[in-house]
Amino acid sequence: MYNYNMEELYEMTVEALRKNGVEIRDIAEIVYDLQKVYGELTMEVCEENVRAVLKKRETVHAILTAIGIDEMVEKGLFPEPIQSIIKEDEGLYGIDEILGLSIVNIYGSIGLTNFGYLDKQKMGIIDRLDKMKGKKVTTFIDDIVAAIAAAAASRYAHQNVAKDPASVEGLVR
Ligand code: MG
Repeated sequence: MYNYNMEELYEMTVEALRKNGVEIRDIAEIVYDLQKVYGELTMEVCEENVRAVLKKRETVHAILTAIGIDEMVEKGLFPEPIQSIIKEDEGLYGIDEILGLSIVNIYGSIGLTNFGYLDKQKMGIIDRLDKMKGKKVTTFIDDIVAAIAAAAASRYAHQNVAKDPASVEGLVR
């Protein structure tokens, strides 16, 4: 039986991220870095956009799935060969990114462009998660954090376009 309402799911998701060393503020910092060149922007606005993304059911489902997989693999509970493939974060394994896309896709092509950019650049908390590899399984969570940041940046960008349609050219990086 499905026992959780959206508010509970949101709180549990924020807590699950926190347990894995990710605060809303860490994700907001990436949003800030992605969008700061396009106009006046505050950390508060970035955090607000991250929270809005986290309140979507699709996002919550993707995050909890990603964190669940990393935790199970950390405990060695997956069957071989996928246990080793995820644990080693093998180069050709791309299901972690596919799961991230389920968040990014809600917010259209700007989100997709930012997601691709973050996959290459590994800014802030994404870089810190990436560097934990070997000590802790972070195969899924790094992409999921990148996806939340990309989606929040896209959400912000779309709202700005609504205010100033002429600025649309500058929004994609
Ligand atoms: Mg990954």
